[in-house]
Amino acid sequence: MTHVITSLCLRDNGCSSVCPVECINPGNPAEGWFTYYIDPSTCIDCGACVPECPFHAIYPADETPKAYKAQSGELINAAGLTGHYEATSHNGEAVRLDSTRALAAGEEIDLTPAIVLNEKFYK
Ligand code: SF4
Ligand code: SF4
Repeated sequence: MTHVITSLCLRDNGCSSVCPVECINPGNPAEGWFTYYIDPSTCIDCGACVPECPFHAIYPADETPKAYKAQSGELINAAGLTGHYEATSHNGEAVRLDSTRALAAGEEIDLTPAIVLNEKFYK
């Protein structure tokens, strides 16, 4: 089992610089890979990336929530969504996304599709 980045990822980039085995890939929004991804063949499950994520997007795969309860103002970032989001990343770079949706307070979302997406990214 490995760690997985879910659709709560807003490409802040805080996680990749702390990974001791450099197994976090930034994906490619222009090609439909909207979040960052963790290489399951390299990840050593150390958990160092988890507290670095300001959006609580990273989980051990077997603990990824099927019914994540959102707080007001949280966003998801995934295919088929069109909401615009702008911010400055952990590294001070501009982040602009057009693939988000704001979650309502208490809304429950399944974050486990990220497990399959992550596997597909590395196939
Ligand atoms: S720190 Fe969180 S939001 Fe930023 S790239 Fe990593 S998983 Fe995505
Ligand atoms: S759990 Fe550790 S090895 Fe795996 S992606 Fe996170 S920092 Fe890297």
